Amino acid sequence: MGRPRLGEHPLTKTERQRRWRAKQRLEQSASGSAGPVRFIQPAATGSMPEWYHARLAEVTGERDELRQQLDQLRRNLVALGEVCFGCGKRGHQVGVMFGSSRGSVRMRVCDACIVRLNEKLQDIRQAQPAMDNR
Ligand SMILES: [Zn+2]
Repeated sequence: MGRPRLGEHPLTKTERQRRWRAKQRLEQSASGSAGPVRFIQPAATGSMPEWYHARLAEVTGERDELRQQLDQLRRNLVALGEVCFGCGKRGHQVGVMFGSSRGSVRMRVCDACIVRLNEKLQDIRQAQPAMDNR
């Protein structure tokens, strides 16, 4: 139970009960049946008892959940490093961040700034129609 988890969030009561029951099943099965169940190879899953498959499914589920959390954390990390040149907001503070890279120079601009700059451009074009011919 006390095992620390990545991206920790408090367990619900139901989740705690589910884990406790799974642990009880595991211990009952391990002590009840003869033989070193802890050392059975995963390759022989066809002959494994029910509790093994239950535990395997549980662990696999936890692993997939952690992988998803890790992916999200990586995406957040990338987003944190992106700053809009127009308003200075960071990737996680905007809807969409656009950008281009030229060598080591990475230029980023957010969706709100593109809308704002486009409006300015429309104003300038209305004031100076000749600009369209350049
Ligand atoms: Zn911006």
